[in-house]
Amino acid sequence: MPNNKERVCIIGGGPAGLSCAMYLEKKGYENYKIYEKLNKVGGKAWSPKLKVKHNGVEEEKSFETGAIMGAITYHAVSEMEEFGGYYHSGPDFKPGEPNMRREFRKTTGEIDHPFEPKVNFSFGKLFGLLKLKKQMKKLNQLMQTKYKGYDCYGHIGVAKGEYFGISKGVDGYCGATKEDSFPNYVKGTNPNLKDLALPFAEFCKINGVEEVQRIWIAPFTSFGYGFFDEIPAALVMKYLDVTTALEFVNMKLWTWKDGTQEIYESVNRKLKHPAILETEVVKVERPEGKVLVTTKGKNGKEVTEEFDKLIVTTPLDYFINYADATKEEKELFSKIIHERYIDYIATFEEGKSPNISGYLVENMVPERLGHAMVYYNRWQYLDRDCPATVYALANHTGTPDVDYDVVMKTMDEDMKKVGFPIKEKHFAQEVYYCPHVSSQDYQDGWYDKLEALQGTKNTYYAGEIISFGDMEDTCAASKDIVGRFF
Ligand SMILES: Cc1cc2nc3c(=O)[nH]c(=O)nc-3n(C[C@H](O)[C@H](O)[C@H](O)COP(=O)(O)OP(=O)(O)OC[C@H]3O[C@@H](n4cnc5c(N)ncnc54)[C@H](O)[C@@H]3O)c2cc1C
Repeated sequence: MPNNKERVCIIGGGPAGLSCAMYLEKKGYENYKIYEKLNKVGGKAWSPKLKVKHNGVEEEKSFETGAIMGAITYHAVSEMEEFGGYYHSGPDFKPGEPNMRREFRKTTGEIDHPFEPKVNFSFGKLFGLLKLKKQMKKLNQLMQTKYKGYDCYGHIGVAKGEYFGISKGVDGYCGATKEDSFPNYVKGTNPNLKDLALPFAEFCKINGVEEVQRIWIAPFTSFGYGFFDEIPAALVMKYLDVTTALEFVNMKLWTWKDGTQEIYESVNRKLKHPAILETEVVKVERPEGKVLVTTKGKNGKEVTEEFDKLIVTTPLDYFINYADATKEEKELFSKIIHERYIDYIATFEEGKSPNISGYLVENMVPERLGHAMVYYNRWQYLDRDCPATVYALANHTGTPDVDYDVVMKTMDEDMKKVGFPIKEKHFAQEVYYCPHVSSQDYQDGWYDKLEALQGTKNTYYAGEIISFGDMEDTCAASKDIVGRFF
C-alpha cells in the first residue's frame, strides 16, 4: 500500500528529479528532498544568457547549450509547463521569438536541398525522393501493424516480444486529462517487437526501408544520439516515432523563449520543497528497511540522513561507485554505454554568423567522427550577429574516441570552411549523453532486468536510461515510476 508519509530522497535536480517530485506531490507525498550537486536545476536543460549587439543595440538573450526543442508528442513536459506556469513558443513563431528554421549545407558551405526535387533537378534525385516517400509510408504502416505496441514509453518486455507502458499518444492523444493525466497504459504481446533490439540500420534493412535513414539521421545522429549501425532501433523509434519525425520534417517543432532550463526553474519554484542546490550525494547505504544518504554541501561538510525510499535519477553506472551496490546492480549498470556529445556556444567574426540553423549531413557518419554536424541559430532578427551553438559526437562503437580538444579544433575548422569563422567560444562542454545499452544487451533483456530490480532495497531508478535521453521520455518515465511504485 502506498504511504504518502514516507521520506523520499531524490538524487538529481534535472528534468527527471523535478518531475519525480512534481508527480509525488500530485500523489500527496510531501516528505521528499531533492539533492542537486550544481548551483542550478534543469540538468542538461541549460540555457545561459549572453549579451548580444545588433544594429548598435546591446541586449541579453537566452541561448541553449542543452535541450532545445519539443513537439506535439511532448505530453509529460506539457504537465511540467502547466505546473510551473511557463509555456513554449511555436511551432508558429511570432516575430521576436526564437525559432526552429533550418537549412542543409555541404561541408564546403554550399547550400544543399536534399528533399526538394525541383532544385538541382535530376532524374536520379527525383527517383530517390519517390523511393523515400514510398518507404516512409511503408514504415508508418509497419509501425502500426507489424510493430504494434512500439509506441509506449520505456522498454519493458520488448526483448521478449511484449509491451507495457504509458502510451506515447503519437496520434496526438495519450489519454491525459487535467485530473488524471496519463491513465493510458498499454499492454500486449507482439513477437515482432523483438526486432527492435537490432541496430536501426539493420532494422531498416530487414524491413526494406533503408532510405528512411536519410530523414531520421538529422534529428537523431546530429542531436548526439549515436550512429544507426550501433543504436538499437527501439531507441530510435521510441524517440522519433513517425509522428515526431514528420513534425521535424515539416518544421513543426517548438522551443521556449527563456530557454528549456526555465521549465525546470519554474517547476522548482512551485514545488513544496525546491531542490537543495550545491549538495552532492556522495554515499548511499541501504541497511535493512532504510536508506542512509550522505551529502556534501558547499561548506565541504558531509551529512548523513535517513529516508524510507530512494529515487536515483542520475547515471546508474556512476551510482555503483558511491552506493553499497548489490551484485545485480553492479553487473547490470556496468553495461550502460553513453554518448560523448560535445557542444559550444560561439560568437562569430563580425557579421559572419549563420542566420539560420544548419545541418552538415556529410559529417553525420562514423568516418567523420568529431566533426561539426549541426549548428543552431536561435534569434532570427539578430541576423548575422547571432551567436550559435555547434555540436559534434566524439564516440562510436568500434572506432577510437576523439579527444575533446581535437573535437573543439575540428569544429572550429569545419565552421570556417562552411563560411562562419568563429571569434570566441562560450559555455563549451562535453556531456554524458543518451545512456543506453548495446543491441546484444537489449536483446538479452537488460531493460527487463532493470525493471525486476525496481524497489529492491527501497530504491527506484528513473531518468534518461528508462526510456530515452530526451526531456519528454525522461519526464514520462518519472510519471510511470511514481505512478506504479508510490
Ligand atoms: C546538447 C543537448 C541537446 C539536447 N536537446 C534536446 C532537445 O532538443 N529536446 C529534448 O527533449 N531533450 C534534449 N536534450 C536531452 C535532455 O536535456 C535530457 O534528456 C534531460 O535533461 C535528461 O534529464 P535527467 O534529469 O535524466 O538528467 P540530467 O539532465 O543529466 O540531470 C541530472 C542532474 O543530476 C545532477 N547530479 C548528478 N550526480 C549527482 C549527485 N551525485 N548528487 C546530486 N546531484 C547529481 C546533475 O548535476 C544534473 O543536474 C539535449 C541535451 C543536450 C546535452
